[in-house]
Amino acid sequence: MSNEFIPAARPIIGEDERRAVDAVLQSGQLAQGTEVAAFEEEFSKVLLDERAAVAVNSGTTGLHLGLLAAGIGPGDEVIVPSFTFAATANSVALTGATPVFADIEPDYFCLSAESVKSVITERTAAIMPVHLYGHPANMDQLQQIADDRGLQLFEDAAQAHGASINGRRVGTFGAFAMFSLYPTKNMTSGEGGMVSTGSPEIERQLRLLRNQGMEKQYENEIVGFNARMTNLHAAIGRVQLTKIWRWTKQRQDNAAFLSKNLTNAVVPKVADGVEHVYHQYTVRITDDRDGVAAALRDEFQIGSGVYYPIPNHRLPSFSRAEDLPVTEAASKEVISLPVHPSLSQDDLERIVTAMNKLTGAGA
Ligand SMILES: *Cc1c(COP(=O)(O)O)cnc(C)c1O
Repeated sequence: MSNEFIPAARPIIGEDERRAVDAVLQSGQLAQGTEVAAFEEEFSKVLLDERAAVAVNSGTTGLHLGLLAAGIGPGDEVIVPSFTFAATANSVALTGATPVFADIEPDYFCLSAESVKSVITERTAAIMPVHLYGHPANMDQLQQIADDRGLQLFEDAAQAHGASINGRRVGTFGAFAMFSLYPTKNMTSGEGGMVSTGSPEIERQLRLLRNQGMEKQYENEIVGFNARMTNLHAAIGRVQLTKIWRWTKQRQDNAAFLSKNLTNAVVPKVADGVEHVYHQYTVRITDDRDGVAAALRDEFQIGSGVYYPIPNHRLPSFSRAEDLPVTEAASKEVISLPVHPSLSQDDLERIVTAMNKLTGAGA
């Protein structure tokens, strides 16, 4: 067995991505143009059952503009999980609205419908679940709550390209949804985000907000941002889009191997009817998670990640007093093992051997 370090994540950039960027450089059309338009159209066909897609310069920007386009602003509350990357709540706060944190359910690490119900107030305007690690949130239950209470439903699908519930893709449930194209996500454009929506009005607002409020040049209709994606980034994204299903299958195969062979860790559960795309392969270790991570790195040359060690409601940027016991426990117990498509069989066996040693009886 090799002894080379196995990284927790590894973006895959090939000759074809290089050639695509070079072609854009040679064209001289560097900023948002025909490559971006083609990327939007292809993303919509490949991942969204033809729902409209609007490209922006990051996933976080996508959430921010999506919320603004859906009318979220000061005085509104948006219910989000605390167990997620800070961008989810940051984007809500950036609109002037207040992120309200709800707990997760223990099996899939996504928003708990019961907890969501318990934090609804007269100011609640929307619910924004995260399809964490590539496992879809329970959209049926959340849609039911949204319908009963007259709330909007959005999706942070940053980690879930291609995931689905009973055959319906994530990104087609919410009034808008955001996919991140950051290098460690299931596909990348370098940096970037894609926002999907089934609402022509939200789509128009998104296109205005990303480009200084202009549809016609110099006839600015609203105050907007420069949140445009470049043709260079779109060219990378278009090539990656042709590989996303192969990579997803590889992630799923890697995850299946790990789940079959890890003997002592609590392996990821998958809800009925759900297609999990394993952005992360996350297990729970109830005894000394941090010690296991350190030993994986130092003794076995295996990278891992903790997503996320500090729940959002405890971050200095929010410091709230909410009591979210399932979130607190998860933040102490989760560890994500390498699952990316470039792992070899040898890598997978090394991960299993190391984990079984470190978590075995008497370890
Ligand atoms: C990555 C990520 C984001 C932010 O996306 P960026 O493209 O990095 O701005 C938002 N939410 C979640 C859950 C993420 O994982």
